[in-house]
Amino acid sequence: MHDKRKNNSFWNNNWTVGTGTAIISVLILRIIDSTADTKILNSTWRFIKALFINLSLFFQRTFTIPTWGLILIAFSGLGLLILVLWIGSLFNKNDKDTTTSELPVEFLKYKSDTFDNLLYKWEYIKDYDGKYDIVNFTPYCPKDNCILHYSRCPICNTYFLKIKEKEELRILVRHRIENNLYPRN
Ligand SMILES: [Zn+2]
Repeated sequence: MHDKRKNNSFWNNNWTVGTGTAIISVLILRIIDSTADTKILNSTWRFIKALFINLSLFFQRTFTIPTWGLILIAFSGLGLLILVLWIGSLFNKNDKDTTTSELPVEFLKYKSDTFDNLLYKWEYIKDYDGKYDIVNFTPYCPKDNCILHYSRCPICNTYFLKIKEKEELRILVRHRIENNLYPRN
C-alpha cells in the first residue's frame, strides 16, 4: 500500500509529467526519422519549431503559466502533429507499394536468351527507387548449357570468341523486354 502512495506522488510531480512528455515526443520523432521521408520532415520540423516558439511567447505574455505547463503544451501539440504526419506518411507508403505491385513484373521470369549463337543468363535486382537492374550476365554454351570457362566450353571444348559486353547485353535484354519480344513460358 505504501508503494501506491509513492507512485501517486511520482506521477503527480510536475517535473515528471513534463519530462515524460518530452521523452515520449523525442521517441516519436525517432520513430518518424526511421520511417518517414526526411525531406518532408525537415521543412515541417522547422515550421513546427517556429510555431511553438511563437506560441510559447504568446502564452508567456498573456497568462502566467508555469514553465512545465508550457513544455507540456508544446510537446503534446508537437506529438499530436507528428502523429498526424506519421499516419499521413504511412498512407503515402502504402500507395507507393500498391503502385509497385501493380507494375508488370512478368519479365522477371525472362532470365536467359541467345544472342549471336551464345546463351546468356542473368538476374534482376531491385533498385532503391523500385526500378529493376539487369545484372550478373553469364555466358553459357548453347549446346551443353554449361558456363564458359575463359570463352571455352568445358564440355564440348568449343571456343566462343564473340562474348558480348555487359552493357550491350543489358541494352539487348532491355530492348526485348520493352518491345515484348522476349519468350514467355
Ligand atoms: Zn559446349
